[in-house]
Amino acid sequence: MTTAFDFDVAVIGAGAVGLACGYQLALGGKTVAVLEKERFIGQGVSSRNSEVIHAGLYYPTGSLKAQLCVRGRRLLYPFLDAHGVGYEKCGKIVVATSEAEIARVQAVAEQARINGVEGLQMLTAEQVHALEPQAKALMGLLSPETGIFDSHGYMLALEGEIQARDGAVVTGAPFEGAEPLPGGGFKVRTGGSDPAEMTVAQIVISGGLGAQDAAARIAGYPADQIPKLHYGKGVYFALNGKPPFQHLVYPPPITGALGVHYKRDMGGRAHFGPDLQYVDEINYDVDPGRAAGFYEYVRHFWPALPDGALTPDYAGIRPKLHGPGEPQPDFRVDGAERHGLEGLVALFGIESPGLTSSLAIGEKVAEMLKG
Ligand SMILES: Cc1cc2nc3c(=O)[nH]c(=O)nc-3n(C[C@H](O)[C@H](O)[C@H](O)COP(=O)(O)OP(=O)(O)OC[C@H]3O[C@@H](n4cnc5c(N)ncnc54)[C@H](O)[C@@H]3O)c2cc1C
Repeated sequence: MTTAFDFDVAVIGAGAVGLACGYQLALGGKTVAVLEKERFIGQGVSSRNSEVIHAGLYYPTGSLKAQLCVRGRRLLYPFLDAHGVGYEKCGKIVVATSEAEIARVQAVAEQARINGVEGLQMLTAEQVHALEPQAKALMGLLSPETGIFDSHGYMLALEGEIQARDGAVVTGAPFEGAEPLPGGGFKVRTGGSDPAEMTVAQIVISGGLGAQDAAARIAGYPADQIPKLHYGKGVYFALNGKPPFQHLVYPPPITGALGVHYKRDMGGRAHFGPDLQYVDEINYDVDPGRAAGFYEYVRHFWPALPDGALTPDYAGIRPKLHGPGEPQPDFRVDGAERHGLEGLVALFGIESPGLTSSLAIGEKVAEMLKG
């Protein structure tokens, strides 16, 4: 792009989204430095989630979530194939376990159709039973495009692609601040054990739970354009015993999240989660006391769940832009028209389906920073 700078673009944050942005920018011919405060890549939100490749069923018509999830999923499967990263397109069934839930599953099916999701099929109770004999359901919606994948293998593949295109992924390098340079571009400062300075033409903020803090460290970033961050914690319980289902099994979504669902990981272990609880601090403890609610909830769609079969597993925290009871907003992909700083894109509120959408978010960011 230019030789006047140390790198064309600094990306703050080496989670799945920051790395996918770095990859798409590098594909467009830019030199990229991805700056990560932790000692390893992918230690943030990207390491504490369901690892589900979402088909794009739920998101409101025309929203970034709807567009970027569907597009991201269509880009993701071929990327995983090309890089030998493990995945399983196991499909998912959204089940109605009560009369009241039937209309909600039908609404999901209609939204999914509008969003352009391929291969959807409404299932009768008998058809659900034929596919998943242990599931209890009055009806269901089958989404064959949904899958699970090795998200860490994915992030390693993105890192390798960036490095192969003269880019750098620098760990142990917390972003400390940036100032716009006269004539364009930014001076960027990193801390840690080896503090450094570099000049870049452009910046992408992809800091997950640290995105708001990173934006506030950029001279001239308007404080009223930094959205309030809420922590939406979700815990998982693992199942001791054989996975009961081949497909992922989800009830209809709850307000603010997709709801506690059944998923398998790539190692074949079954898990249930995540729930949603607003918290004031980052703490990944799983309270064993939440198990009672999980047993009750899961038995709606899996009545045979044995007593004592659930073990506290792990937790993740969603970088939410809405508080309890408030409507769930879209992803924020903020360019200069919002914050006034040319050459800067800031990502806020990249909760689910951020992993699935990552390659499409990267594509969009690269398009915004073209030229
Ligand atoms: C419980 C849960 C379940 C989910 N399930 C799914 C799912 O099944 N499918 C799906 O598609 N999505 C899912 N998501 C969403 C998905 O995990 C996220 O959207 C995605 O991982 C976000 O990636 P990211 O790169 O934006 O954030 P992160 O992975 O958090 O990366 C941000 C990085 O920035 C670094 N950082 C922060 N501040 C600084 C700084 N000052 N300097 C340098 N580095 C910094 C952090 O250390 C971190 O590594 C789920 C999320 C949660 C919480």
